[in-house]
Amino acid sequence: MSHIDTKCVQAGWTPKNGEARTLPIYQSTTFKYDSAKTLGDLFDLNESGHFYTRLSNPTLEAVENKIAALEGGVGAMLTSSGQAATMSAFLTICRAGDNIISTSEIYGGTYNLFNITLRQIGIDVTFINNDMSSDEIDALVKPNTKAIFGETLSNPSLRVADIEKLAAVAHKHNIPLIIDNTFPTPINCRPFEFGADIVIHSTSKYMDGHAVALGGAVVDSGRFDWKASDKFPMLCEPDESYHGTVFADKFGPAAFIAKARCHIMRDCGMQQSPQNAFLLNLGLETLALRMERHSQNGLSMAKYLSQHDKVAWVDYPGLEDNKDYPLACKYLGGKCSGVVSFGVKGGKEAAVKLMESLKLTALVIHVADARTSALHPASTTHRQLTDEQLKEAGVQPEMIRLSVGIENIEDIISDFDQALANI
Ligand SMILES: *Cc1c(COP(=O)(O)O)cnc(C)c1O
Repeated sequence: MSHIDTKCVQAGWTPKNGEARTLPIYQSTTFKYDSAKTLGDLFDLNESGHFYTRLSNPTLEAVENKIAALEGGVGAMLTSSGQAATMSAFLTICRAGDNIISTSEIYGGTYNLFNITLRQIGIDVTFINNDMSSDEIDALVKPNTKAIFGETLSNPSLRVADIEKLAAVAHKHNIPLIIDNTFPTPINCRPFEFGADIVIHSTSKYMDGHAVALGGAVVDSGRFDWKASDKFPMLCEPDESYHGTVFADKFGPAAFIAKARCHIMRDCGMQQSPQNAFLLNLGLETLALRMERHSQNGLSMAKYLSQHDKVAWVDYPGLEDNKDYPLACKYLGGKCSGVVSFGVKGGKEAAVKLMESLKLTALVIHVADARTSALHPASTTHRQLTDEQLKEAGVQPEMIRLSVGIENIEDIISDFDQALANI
Protein backbone atom coordinates (compact mmCIF):
# COMPACT_ATOMS: atom_id res chain seq x y z
CA MET A 1 0.00 0.00 0.00
CA SER A 2 2.41 2.67 -1.17
CA HIS A 3 0.06 5.30 -2.62
CA ILE A 4 -1.72 7.82 -0.46
CA ASP A 5 -5.09 7.44 -2.22
CA THR A 6 -4.98 3.70 -1.50
CA LYS A 7 -4.17 4.41 2.16
CA CYS A 8 -7.20 6.71 2.36
CA VAL A 9 -9.42 3.78 1.44
CA GLN A 10 -7.64 0.81 2.98
CA ALA A 11 -5.31 1.80 5.86
CA GLY A 12 -6.29 1.43 9.50
CA TRP A 13 -8.93 -1.30 9.52
CA THR A 14 -7.87 -4.71 8.19
CA PRO A 15 -10.59 -7.23 9.01
CA LYS A 16 -9.57 -10.74 9.97
CA ASN A 17 -11.39 -13.83 8.71
CA GLY A 18 -15.13 -13.35 9.15
CA GLU A 19 -14.91 -9.86 10.66
CA ALA A 20 -16.91 -6.86 9.46
CA ARG A 21 -15.74 -5.52 6.08
CA THR A 22 -16.24 -1.93 7.21
CA LEU A 23 -14.87 -0.38 10.37
CA PRO A 24 -17.17 -1.36 13.28
CA ILE A 25 -18.26 1.22 15.85
CA TYR A 26 -17.12 -0.09 19.23
CA GLN A 27 -19.79 1.73 21.18
CA SER A 28 -18.44 0.70 24.56
CA THR A 29 -16.78 2.60 27.37
CA THR A 30 -14.89 -0.44 28.58
CA PHE A 31 -13.43 -3.82 27.58
CA LYS A 32 -13.51 -7.21 29.25
CA TYR A 33 -10.49 -9.28 30.32
CA ASP A 34 -10.30 -12.72 31.87
CA SER A 35 -7.48 -12.12 34.33
CA ALA A 36 -6.61 -9.37 36.74
CA LYS A 37 -2.99 -9.81 35.71
CA THR A 38 -3.67 -8.80 32.08
CA LEU A 39 -5.56 -5.75 33.27
CA GLY A 40 -2.68 -4.88 35.61
CA ASP A 41 -0.20 -5.18 32.76
CA LEU A 42 -2.36 -2.90 30.64
CA PHE A 43 -2.39 -0.31 33.41
CA ASP A 44 1.37 -0.58 33.78
CA LEU A 45 1.73 -0.03 30.01
CA ASN A 46 3.47 -3.40 29.73
CA GLU A 47 0.74 -4.80 27.44
CA SER A 48 -1.08 -3.02 24.68
CA GLY A 49 -4.85 -3.27 24.52
CA HIS A 50 -7.97 -1.28 25.23
CA PHE A 51 -9.51 -0.95 28.65
CA TYR A 52 -11.33 2.37 28.79
CA THR A 53 -12.46 4.51 25.85
CA ARG A 54 -11.08 7.74 27.33
CA LEU A 55 -7.62 6.24 26.70
CA SER A 56 -8.22 4.15 23.61
CA ASN A 57 -10.90 2.32 21.64
CA PRO A 58 -10.63 -0.02 18.63
CA THR A 59 -12.67 2.26 16.32
CA LEU A 60 -10.53 5.26 17.20
CA GLU A 61 -7.36 3.22 16.92
CA ALA A 62 -8.12 2.20 13.33
CA VAL A 63 -8.72 5.82 12.31
CA GLU A 64 -5.62 6.96 14.22
CA ASN A 65 -3.56 4.40 12.34
CA LYS A 66 -5.01 5.58 9.02
CA ILE A 67 -4.16 9.24 9.75
CA ALA A 68 -0.66 8.29 10.95
CA ALA A 69 -0.18 6.35 7.69
CA LEU A 70 -1.39 9.29 5.59
CA GLU A 71 0.97 11.75 7.31
CA GLY A 72 3.85 9.26 7.51
CA GLY A 73 4.05 9.30 11.32
CA VAL A 74 4.64 6.64 14.01
CA GLY A 75 1.35 7.25 15.76
CA ALA A 76 -1.67 9.51 16.12
CA MET A 77 -4.24 10.42 18.73
CA LEU A 78 -7.78 11.49 17.91
CA THR A 79 -9.32 14.28 19.96
CA SER A 80 -12.80 15.76 20.35
CA SER A 81 -11.97 18.81 18.20
CA GLY A 82 -9.11 20.62 16.50
CA GLN A 83 -8.83 22.93 19.51
CA ALA A 84 -8.39 19.91 21.79
CA ALA A 85 -5.66 18.57 19.47
CA THR A 86 -3.67 21.81 19.73
CA MET A 87 -4.16 22.06 23.48
CA SER A 88 -3.11 18.45 24.12
CA ALA A 89 -0.01 18.77 21.92
CA PHE A 90 1.23 21.76 23.91
CA LEU A 91 0.31 20.32 27.30
CA THR A 92 2.39 17.24 26.42
CA ILE A 93 5.63 19.25 26.28
CA CYS A 94 5.00 22.62 27.99
CA ARG A 95 4.34 23.72 31.51
CA ALA A 96 4.11 26.97 33.48
CA GLY A 97 7.23 29.03 32.93
CA ASP A 98 7.74 27.82 29.34
CA ASN A 99 7.50 29.82 26.14
CA ILE A 100 6.34 28.92 22.63
CA ILE A 101 6.76 30.75 19.33
CA SER A 102 3.85 30.90 16.88
CA THR A 103 3.14 32.62 13.62
CA SER A 104 0.42 35.21 14.19
CA GLU A 105 -1.59 34.47 11.05
CA ILE A 106 -3.40 31.43 12.38
CA TYR A 107 -6.94 30.25 13.07
CA GLY A 108 -8.76 32.66 15.43
CA GLY A 109 -9.52 29.96 17.99
CA THR A 110 -5.88 28.91 18.12
CA TYR A 111 -4.77 32.54 18.43
CA ASN A 112 -7.03 33.00 21.43
CA LEU A 113 -5.89 29.69 22.96
CA PHE A 114 -2.29 30.90 22.77
CA ASN A 115 -2.80 34.57 23.54
CA ILE A 116 -5.23 34.21 26.45
CA THR A 117 -5.61 30.65 27.75
CA LEU A 118 -2.00 29.44 27.60
CA ARG A 119 -0.84 32.73 29.13
CA GLN A 120 -3.38 32.26 31.95
CA ILE A 121 -1.74 28.96 32.83
CA GLY A 122 1.74 30.44 32.70
CA ILE A 123 2.87 29.47 29.19
CA ASP A 124 4.16 32.54 27.39
CA VAL A 125 3.73 33.03 23.63
CA THR A 126 5.89 34.99 21.21
CA PHE A 127 4.13 35.80 17.94
CA ILE A 128 6.12 36.08 14.73
CA ASN A 129 4.98 36.96 11.24
CA ASN A 130 5.33 34.70 8.22
CA ASP A 131 7.73 37.03 6.45
CA MET A 132 10.42 37.09 9.18
CA SER A 133 13.83 35.72 8.24
CA SER A 134 15.45 32.75 9.99
CA ASP A 135 17.77 35.12 11.83
CA GLU A 136 14.91 37.25 13.09
CA ILE A 137 13.05 34.18 14.37
CA ASP A 138 16.26 32.70 15.78
CA ALA A 139 16.79 35.84 17.87
CA LEU A 140 13.40 35.31 19.53
CA VAL A 141 14.08 31.76 20.75
CA LYS A 142 14.63 31.84 24.52
CA PRO A 143 16.14 29.16 26.76
CA ASN A 144 12.58 28.28 27.92
CA THR A 145 11.11 28.12 24.38
CA LYS A 146 9.72 24.60 23.86
CA ALA A 147 8.25 24.63 20.35
CA ILE A 148 7.60 26.61 17.18
CA PHE A 149 4.10 26.53 15.67
CA GLY A 150 2.59 27.47 12.31
CA GLU A 151 -0.22 26.57 9.90
CA THR A 152 0.71 25.07 6.53
CA LEU A 153 -2.07 27.08 4.88
CA SER A 154 -3.47 29.55 7.35
CA ASN A 155 -7.14 30.00 8.14
CA PRO A 156 -8.43 32.53 7.16
CA SER A 157 -5.51 34.54 5.76
CA LEU A 158 -4.29 31.77 3.38
CA ARG A 159 -0.58 32.33 4.03
CA VAL A 160 1.71 29.37 3.29
CA ALA A 161 4.19 28.55 6.05
CA ASP A 162 7.83 28.10 5.06
CA ILE A 163 8.08 24.78 6.91
CA GLU A 164 11.78 24.18 6.14
CA LYS A 165 12.72 27.63 7.43
CA LEU A 166 10.80 27.15 10.68
CA ALA A 167 12.12 23.59 11.13
CA ALA A 168 15.72 24.72 10.71
CA VAL A 169 15.38 27.33 13.46
CA ALA A 170 13.55 24.92 15.76
CA HIS A 171 16.06 22.11 15.29
CA LYS A 172 19.02 24.41 15.84
CA HIS A 173 17.62 24.90 19.36
CA ASN A 174 16.57 21.26 19.87
CA ILE A 175 12.88 22.11 19.94
CA PRO A 176 10.13 20.60 17.74
CA LEU A 177 8.19 22.26 14.95
CA ILE A 178 4.44 21.74 15.35
CA ILE A 179 2.37 22.29 12.20
CA ASP A 180 -1.40 22.61 11.86
CA ASN A 181 -2.04 20.88 8.53
CA THR A 182 -5.85 21.21 8.52
CA PHE A 183 -6.39 23.01 5.21
CA PRO A 184 -3.99 21.07 2.94
CA THR A 185 -4.61 17.67 4.59
CA PRO A 186 -1.91 15.03 3.94
CA ILE A 187 -3.15 14.83 0.35
CA ASN A 188 -1.79 18.27 -0.55
CA CYS A 189 1.09 18.47 1.95
CA ARG A 190 2.90 16.13 4.31
CA PRO A 191 4.77 18.48 6.69
CA PHE A 192 6.98 15.66 8.08
CA GLU A 193 8.66 15.45 4.66
CA PHE A 194 9.84 19.06 5.15
CA GLY A 195 11.06 18.69 8.73
CA ALA A 196 7.99 19.21 10.93
CA ASP A 197 7.97 16.99 14.04
CA ILE A 198 4.35 17.03 15.16
CA VAL A 199 1.27 17.61 13.00
CA ILE A 200 -2.14 18.73 14.21
CA HIS A 201 -5.49 18.55 12.45
CA SER A 202 -8.97 19.85 12.88
CA THR A 203 -10.63 16.81 11.31
CA SER A 204 -13.87 18.84 11.33
CA LYS A 205 -12.83 20.36 8.00
CA TYR A 206 -11.75 18.49 4.83
CA MET A 207 -10.91 15.20 6.56
CA ASP A 208 -14.51 14.70 7.65
CA GLY A 209 -15.46 16.69 4.57
CA HIS A 210 -19.22 16.63 5.06
CA ALA A 211 -19.58 18.91 8.10
CA VAL A 212 -21.04 16.13 10.24
CA ALA A 213 -18.56 15.57 13.10
CA LEU A 214 -16.20 17.75 15.11
CA GLY A 215 -12.83 16.19 15.70
CA GLY A 216 -9.10 16.63 15.86
CA ALA A 217 -5.89 14.64 15.58
CA VAL A 218 -2.30 14.89 16.81
CA VAL A 219 0.30 13.00 14.76
CA ASP A 220 3.85 12.18 15.86
CA SER A 221 6.59 11.91 13.21
CA GLY A 222 8.68 9.83 15.61
CA ARG A 223 11.76 11.68 14.42
CA PHE A 224 12.33 14.26 17.12
CA ASP A 225 15.12 13.48 19.59
CA TRP A 226 13.63 14.47 22.96
CA LYS A 227 16.79 13.44 24.78
CA ALA A 228 19.13 15.69 22.78
CA SER A 229 18.68 18.47 25.35
CA ASP A 230 17.42 18.83 28.90
CA LYS A 231 14.39 20.80 27.68
CA PHE A 232 11.80 18.01 27.92
CA PRO A 233 11.85 16.56 31.43
CA MET A 234 8.23 15.38 30.97
CA LEU A 235 9.43 12.89 28.40
CA CYS A 236 12.94 12.19 29.61
CA GLU A 237 12.68 12.02 33.39
CA PRO A 238 10.72 9.54 35.55
CA ASP A 239 7.06 10.55 35.29
CA GLU A 240 5.34 10.74 38.66
CA SER A 241 1.94 10.59 36.99
CA TYR A 242 2.89 7.15 35.64
CA HIS A 243 4.83 5.57 38.51
CA GLY A 244 8.25 6.56 37.30
CA THR A 245 7.91 5.73 33.60
CA VAL A 246 10.51 7.49 31.42
CA PHE A 247 8.50 7.89 28.20
CA ALA A 248 11.52 8.47 25.95
CA ASP A 249 13.05 5.17 27.15
CA LYS A 250 9.90 3.07 27.25
CA PHE A 251 8.35 4.23 23.96
CA GLY A 252 11.41 5.34 21.98
CA PRO A 253 10.37 7.22 18.84
CA ALA A 254 6.70 7.15 19.88
CA ALA A 255 7.40 8.86 23.24
CA PHE A 256 5.47 12.03 22.44
CA ILE A 257 2.25 10.40 21.30
CA ALA A 258 2.40 7.87 24.16
CA LYS A 259 2.75 10.67 26.70
CA ALA A 260 -0.04 12.67 25.02
CA ARG A 261 -2.37 9.70 25.43
CA CYS A 262 -1.28 8.17 28.75
CA HIS A 263 -1.01 11.46 30.58
CA ILE A 264 -2.79 14.38 28.90
CA MET A 265 -5.72 12.45 27.42
CA ARG A 266 -6.09 10.45 30.63
CA ASP A 267 -6.17 13.61 32.73
CA CYS A 268 -8.13 15.93 30.46
CA GLY A 269 -10.47 13.52 28.65
CA MET A 270 -10.88 15.26 25.30
CA GLN A 271 -11.35 11.99 23.40
CA GLN A 272 -13.33 11.62 20.18
CA SER A 273 -16.49 9.52 20.30
CA PRO A 274 -16.42 6.17 18.43
CA GLN A 275 -19.43 7.33 16.38
CA ASN A 276 -17.57 10.46 15.22
CA ALA A 277 -14.46 8.42 14.44
CA PHE A 278 -16.59 6.16 12.24
CA LEU A 279 -17.94 9.19 10.35
CA LEU A 280 -14.43 10.62 10.07
CA ASN A 281 -13.24 7.34 8.56
CA LEU A 282 -15.94 7.50 5.91
CA GLY A 283 -14.75 10.99 5.03
CA LEU A 284 -11.12 9.88 4.89
CA GLU A 285 -11.96 7.14 2.39
CA THR A 286 -12.74 9.76 -0.26
CA LEU A 287 -10.27 12.43 0.91
CA ALA A 288 -7.85 12.08 -2.01
CA LEU A 289 -10.63 12.39 -4.59
CA ARG A 290 -12.24 15.31 -2.83
CA MET A 291 -9.02 17.30 -2.28
CA GLU A 292 -8.20 16.98 -5.98
CA ARG A 293 -11.58 18.45 -6.88
CA HIS A 294 -11.55 21.12 -4.13
CA SER A 295 -8.13 22.30 -5.31
CA GLN A 296 -9.18 22.32 -8.99
CA ASN A 297 -12.43 24.15 -8.25
CA GLY A 298 -10.64 26.55 -5.87
CA LEU A 299 -8.16 27.53 -8.56
CA SER A 300 -10.90 27.88 -11.20
CA MET A 301 -12.94 30.16 -8.94
CA ALA A 302 -9.87 32.23 -8.01
CA LYS A 303 -9.14 32.73 -11.72
CA TYR A 304 -12.77 33.48 -12.57
CA LEU A 305 -13.07 36.04 -9.77
CA SER A 306 -9.79 37.78 -10.58
CA GLN A 307 -11.02 38.42 -14.12
CA HIS A 308 -14.42 39.78 -13.03
CA ASP A 309 -14.79 43.56 -13.27
CA LYS A 310 -16.84 43.81 -10.06
CA VAL A 311 -14.14 42.08 -8.03
CA ALA A 312 -11.46 44.31 -6.45
CA TRP A 313 -8.97 41.66 -5.39
CA VAL A 314 -8.54 37.89 -4.94
CA ASP A 315 -6.31 36.14 -2.44
CA TYR A 316 -5.45 32.52 -3.28
CA PRO A 317 -1.88 31.17 -3.08
CA GLY A 318 -2.45 29.10 -6.23
CA LEU A 319 -2.57 32.28 -8.36
CA GLU A 320 0.77 33.12 -9.96
CA ASP A 321 0.72 36.74 -8.78
CA ASN A 322 0.11 35.77 -5.13
CA LYS A 323 3.04 36.54 -2.83
CA ASP A 324 3.04 32.98 -1.49
CA TYR A 325 2.83 31.31 -4.92
CA PRO A 326 6.44 30.01 -4.79
CA LEU A 327 5.80 28.52 -1.32
CA ALA A 328 2.51 27.03 -2.55
CA CYS A 329 4.37 25.33 -5.41
CA LYS A 330 7.04 23.99 -3.08
CA TYR A 331 4.92 22.76 -0.17
CA LEU A 332 1.50 22.16 -1.73
CA GLY A 333 2.50 21.13 -5.23
CA GLY A 334 0.32 24.04 -6.37
CA LYS A 335 -2.79 22.36 -4.88
CA CYS A 336 -4.18 24.97 -2.55
CA SER A 337 -7.51 23.43 -1.44
CA GLY A 338 -10.85 25.16 -1.83
CA VAL A 339 -10.72 28.26 0.34
CA VAL A 340 -10.51 31.55 -1.57
CA SER A 341 -10.73 35.11 -0.19
CA PHE A 342 -11.83 38.01 -2.33
CA GLY A 343 -13.14 41.55 -2.09
CA VAL A 344 -15.89 43.10 -4.20
CA LYS A 345 -15.81 46.69 -5.43
CA GLY A 346 -18.26 48.84 -3.47
CA GLY A 347 -17.24 47.88 0.08
CA LYS A 348 -19.35 46.28 2.79
CA GLU A 349 -22.71 47.14 1.22
CA ALA A 350 -21.84 45.47 -2.09
CA ALA A 351 -20.52 42.42 -0.23
CA VAL A 352 -23.78 42.04 1.71
CA LYS A 353 -25.75 42.39 -1.54
CA LEU A 354 -23.65 39.67 -3.14
CA MET A 355 -24.08 37.35 -0.17
CA GLU A 356 -27.86 37.78 -0.28
CA SER A 357 -27.95 37.07 -4.00
CA LEU A 358 -26.16 33.73 -3.86
CA LYS A 359 -28.40 30.71 -4.35
CA LEU A 360 -26.33 27.53 -4.65
CA THR A 361 -23.69 28.91 -2.30
CA ALA A 362 -24.80 28.73 1.33
CA LEU A 363 -24.08 31.31 4.03
CA VAL A 364 -22.51 29.30 6.86
CA ILE A 365 -19.85 29.75 9.55
CA HIS A 366 -17.90 26.75 8.37
CA VAL A 367 -15.35 26.05 5.70
CA ALA A 368 -13.90 23.04 3.97
CA ASP A 369 -16.75 20.67 3.29
CA ALA A 370 -18.24 19.23 0.12
CA ARG A 371 -20.78 22.05 -0.38
CA THR A 372 -19.80 25.50 -1.60
CA SER A 373 -20.31 28.10 1.11
CA ALA A 374 -19.40 31.70 1.78
CA LEU A 375 -18.92 33.95 4.76
CA HIS A 376 -18.83 37.74 4.98
CA PRO A 377 -16.86 38.42 8.18
CA ALA A 378 -17.75 42.15 8.37
CA SER A 379 -21.48 41.43 8.67
CA THR A 380 -21.21 38.23 10.74
CA THR A 381 -18.21 37.08 12.77
CA HIS A 382 -16.73 40.60 12.97
CA ARG A 383 -19.97 42.62 12.85
CA GLN A 384 -19.36 44.60 16.04
CA LEU A 385 -16.32 46.29 14.52
CA THR A 386 -16.30 49.61 12.67
CA ASP A 387 -14.65 49.84 9.24
CA GLU A 388 -11.54 51.27 10.92
CA GLN A 389 -11.39 48.44 13.46
CA LEU A 390 -11.97 45.88 10.73
CA LYS A 391 -8.92 47.16 8.88
CA GLU A 392 -6.83 46.90 12.03
CA ALA A 393 -7.99 43.31 12.48
CA GLY A 394 -6.91 42.57 8.90
CA VAL A 395 -10.49 42.03 7.77
CA GLN A 396 -11.42 44.31 4.90
CA PRO A 397 -15.11 45.34 4.95
CA GLU A 398 -15.60 44.00 1.42
CA MET A 399 -13.86 40.67 2.08
CA ILE A 400 -15.72 37.42 1.41
CA ARG A 401 -14.30 34.05 2.36
CA LEU A 402 -15.41 31.44 -0.09
CA SER A 403 -15.14 27.71 0.56
CA VAL A 404 -15.41 26.06 -2.84
CA GLY A 405 -17.07 22.65 -2.74
CA ILE A 406 -16.93 19.69 -5.08
CA GLU A 407 -19.96 20.55 -7.23
CA ASN A 408 -19.58 21.04 -10.96
CA ILE A 409 -17.54 24.23 -11.42
CA GLU A 410 -19.94 25.57 -14.07
CA ASP A 411 -22.79 25.63 -11.56
CA ILE A 412 -20.67 27.42 -8.96
CA ILE A 413 -19.54 30.00 -11.51
CA SER A 414 -23.07 30.65 -12.76
CA ASP A 415 -24.20 31.22 -9.17
CA PHE A 416 -21.55 33.92 -8.82
CA ASP A 417 -22.32 35.27 -12.30
CA GLN A 418 -25.93 35.98 -11.37
CA ALA A 419 -25.07 37.25 -7.86
CA LEU A 420 -22.32 39.60 -9.10
CA ALA A 421 -24.71 40.91 -11.75
CA ASN A 422 -26.95 42.06 -8.89
CA ILE A 423 -24.47 44.50 -7.39
C1 LIG B 1 -11.21 24.91 12.45
C2 LIG B 1 -9.77 24.96 12.70
C3 LIG B 1 -9.24 24.65 13.97
C4 LIG B 1 -10.13 24.31 15.14
O1 LIG B 1 -10.78 23.11 14.92
P1 LIG B 1 -12.16 22.67 15.60
O2 LIG B 1 -12.34 21.29 15.13
O3 LIG B 1 -13.21 23.64 15.15
O4 LIG B 1 -11.94 22.76 17.09
C5 LIG B 1 -7.88 24.67 14.12
N1 LIG B 1 -7.05 24.99 13.09
C6 LIG B 1 -7.53 25.31 11.88
C7 LIG B 1 -6.56 25.66 10.78
C8 LIG B 1 -8.89 25.31 11.63
O5 LIG B 1 -9.34 25.63 10.42
